[in-house]
Amino acid sequence: MEETYRELTTYLRRLALLGSSNSLLSWERETFMPEGGTQLRSEQVSLLAGVQHQWATAPRLGELLDELIEADLGPADGPTAVNVRQAKRDYDLATKLPQRLVEDLSRVTTLSQGAWHRAKQSNDFSAFEPWLDQVLTLKREEADCLRAGADAPLYDSLLDQYEPGMTTEQLKATFGPLREQLVPLVSAIADASDKPAADILNRDFPIDQQQAFSRKAAAAIGFDLDSGRIDESAHPFCSGIGPGDCRLTTRYDEQFFNMAFFGTLHEAGHGIYEQGLNPEAFGLGMGQSVSLGIHESQSRMWENLVGRSHAFWHHFYPEAQERYAALKDVPLEQFYRSINLVEPSWIRVEADEVTYNLHIMLRFELEQQLVAGDLKTADLPEAWNALFREYFGITPPDDAHGCLQDVHWSAGLFGYFPTYALGNIYAAQFYNAAERELGNLHDLFASGQFAPLKDWLNKNIHSRGQQYLAADLVKVVTGEEFSADPLLQYLNHKFGEVYRLSN
Ligand code: ZN
Repeated sequence: MEETYRELTTYLRRLALLGSSNSLLSWERETFMPEGGTQLRSEQVSLLAGVQHQWATAPRLGELLDELIEADLGPADGPTAVNVRQAKRDYDLATKLPQRLVEDLSRVTTLSQGAWHRAKQSNDFSAFEPWLDQVLTLKREEADCLRAGADAPLYDSLLDQYEPGMTTEQLKATFGPLREQLVPLVSAIADASDKPAADILNRDFPIDQQQAFSRKAAAAIGFDLDSGRIDESAHPFCSGIGPGDCRLTTRYDEQFFNMAFFGTLHEAGHGIYEQGLNPEAFGLGMGQSVSLGIHESQSRMWENLVGRSHAFWHHFYPEAQERYAALKDVPLEQFYRSINLVEPSWIRVEADEVTYNLHIMLRFELEQQLVAGDLKTADLPEAWNALFREYFGITPPDDAHGCLQDVHWSAGLFGYFPTYALGNIYAAQFYNAAERELGNLHDLFASGQFAPLKDWLNKNIHSRGQQYLAADLVKVVTGEEFSADPLLQYLNHKFGEVYRLSN
């Protein structure tokens, strides 16, 4: 058994090296590659992805796993059992889909992303609709190959690829009550008489200052720049290349403070997670992140619960005022309220902490119906707008600002959106647990101490790898069941204060 296990871990490590080489090529494509390199790079990346797939589905890997799964691997949450279980899961996912389906999905989603892009620019949903139909047909077939039993909802197997263990039913039970309480909070905020000023964040913020300031803040919260980089790209992302090498990107707008600063904190939150994984377990379950939702909980925590707190700015605001002449006449209190502005808008990626979750619930509702075949693609724009009115009280002006705004569906990413809201929910639960153990976190932030929280996350979440599924991890770390109540309490409390909703 030991011999077999050693062969498995050596194999998985090499497979991870292959994957990380591909990640590095992809990172470089988004940051420094000259325009002319596009064709060559796409060939390089797809060749490597093909080799990776061959390795990940190799019969020898299947034999090793078959042998090990029967053996005594020790406690279920011990490293050996976790590593074998996760490898088996990945192997099953990679081998359950027929090669023909994998190729069709890759070809159709590439073309449909192009079609989506053109349809969005010309605000023409009808040009995209046949593509959406094709993608959905393939995704249903994929979900059917992956589902546990004939009765399981198709949507569950799509969701499970991003958030293992989470079910449609559990999401409905969590999102429903959360939405019922968020809608009145949004309308109370809309009716508030004393609103923060938005325009102070649209003054002049010289880019060299933004670079230096956001870099300094990322380092202050614990992103290790000796083992990481921060560069620029059109769409910010974090790529954990592997132990000792994590790359973040951000983007700058000279006339908008929030974009680079909070974008960098967000990606640094992802990066701190990647840097906190056990390097010895590279390529193994014990050295990988739990799920997209747990990953997002880390970015959201640093971006919002920490970065948009009063205490954080108590510490950083004097420096901000020194760097930016535009803020010299703006008192801390006013700045704090402005970075926490809540405003129903059509666009998800620009949404604030309160309305963001409603954007996700809307997509969750519609994509479930699309996958189940209860909503026809032709009826999507109307269904989108009707639900938008119900949740936000406003109607998108056109489909480009409505159902065409996100790339996800054209790329076949059904079941992905919920992980964004899950991130907010987990973050609030983890934050409360950290505070119970460490004492008042705001007192620490106000004096620039972020290491206690970062170390707590390292110990309780990052170093555990995939030891537990997300909901079990929440239970182990917080002692509580997965619940949206802490998020709701946090939002009600914070925005009640920001908007002075004292009644
Ligand atoms: Zn993120």
